[in-house]
Amino acid sequence: MLNWTRRDFIKAGGASLASGLAGAPFVASGAARKARVVVIGGGYGGAIAAKYVKRLDPQIDVTLVERNKHYVSCPFSNEVLSGERDIESLTFDYQGLAARDIRVIHDEATAVDPVRKTVSLKNGKALEYDRLVVSPGIQFNWKAIEGCGPEMEKTMPHAWKAGEQTLLLRKQLEAMKDGGTAIIVVPPAPFRCPPGPYERAAQMCAYFKHHKPKSRVLILDANTAMSKRPLFEQAWAALYPGMITWTPASNSGKVLRVDQSKRTLVTEFDSYTSDVINFIAPHKAGQIAHIAGLTDAAGWCPVDPFTMESTKHKAIHVIGDASAAGDMPKSAHSAGSQAKATAAAIVAAINGQTAPNPYYVNTCYSLVAPDWGFSVAGLYKADGDKIAAIPGSVVISPTDVAPFTRKEEAAFGLSWLANITAEAFS
Ligand SMILES: Cc1cc2nc3c(=O)[nH]c(=O)nc-3n(C[C@H](O)[C@H](O)[C@H](O)COP(=O)(O)OP(=O)(O)OC[C@H]3O[C@@H](n4cnc5c(N)ncnc54)[C@H](O)[C@@H]3O)c2cc1C
Repeated sequence: MLNWTRRDFIKAGGASLASGLAGAPFVASGAARKARVVVIGGGYGGAIAAKYVKRLDPQIDVTLVERNKHYVSCPFSNEVLSGERDIESLTFDYQGLAARDIRVIHDEATAVDPVRKTVSLKNGKALEYDRLVVSPGIQFNWKAIEGCGPEMEKTMPHAWKAGEQTLLLRKQLEAMKDGGTAIIVVPPAPFRCPPGPYERAAQMCAYFKHHKPKSRVLILDANTAMSKRPLFEQAWAALYPGMITWTPASNSGKVLRVDQSKRTLVTEFDSYTSDVINFIAPHKAGQIAHIAGLTDAAGWCPVDPFTMESTKHKAIHVIGDASAAGDMPKSAHSAGSQAKATAAAIVAAINGQTAPNPYYVNTCYSLVAPDWGFSVAGLYKADGDKIAAIPGSVVISPTDVAPFTRKEEAAFGLSWLANITAEAFS
């Protein structure tokens, strides 16, 4: 909790307390200064959190720290691989947030001092906060698999952070000879966008179908379960028959070792090579979360399920992929939902009110062809010390529907994208 709310400060006489309270929430001279919220990370989680704090209480001084000038959306980036869309259609800037009186700083947060309540930036400056939101997304845990390292991004692109990586993977698909097999390596759960690898296999085949019809996709999966499995398998069989092979961990699909020089992937009983290896390494919370001491032994950030406040450090909220959000999948929709709950909790705390008891929502559309979409949606709420799915609320599209319904769901998916990107960046 904050030591002082704006109301407390005004009651206590404001400026007289200012001197000698370095790092305390309110240190204005002459008048009660604005409460300060700093947000690290301008992806779906951070952008929506910054916007909603400002919307709920325009008096709060909101600063967003994002290292990049542009954000490239992972949702729908698999369509760049098929050629269905270009990367520009998924690229956003931060002018919309700046126009909302949010201070946008394009720099990297390098450290957090939870006692002094400061965030250090790469440019050498520091920002003071009363509440901090940390939404840095994921980083790759290269050490989890023998022979792996970040240099692999150049040769076996993950394309799991959209942008240059997506374009590199697309280039490799274009350069691949017809009759080749592109390999997708799926990391162990939890990873961002559980249905993403299987949607990707379909989008790669959409490209092959038109340009390299003898080519195939092999999925080497560290898991034994596949998100929306009946829907993917139905779509693969109907749209790309015989083109996709899924090899789960139970069938020696888990990659245990990589020989980068030979481009070889070694599993329990087999080894594979290909000109196109889409290597999605195991995940953990983004680096700044580790530096700030917000992570647990598994590499994720435990949070209070009501407010997304870190259980490691007070006044710091962790949202999006970096958080250990119980049953919620790591998705843009989850990140946005957590962002709004967090904004409400922060504004309540700053104004000396009780945080509302939130319901969280996730929706995730998968497009396997331009007119073939399906989805999963669910509701979640705080249950004890975790965020739990509300029984019966998690629903996936049925398999026995007419083509029109698939087409309609594809259109809903596009509408979802337009809505969430507007929500985050305008
Ligand atoms: C191929 C693919 C398809 C997907 N499809 C969907 C979908 O259809 N629906 C869906 O809901 N989700 C989807 N997702 C998942 C979704 O992209 C993520 O869950 C979502 O982006 C998480 O948001 P976030 O804010 O936690 O992290 P991110 O969106 O990754 O944002 C983190 C931001 O923080 C910045 N950052 C990190 N560290 C620092 C630092 N130290 N200083 C400054 N800035 C920093 C980064 O530059 C980045 O902009 C998909 C993912 C992939 C890979």
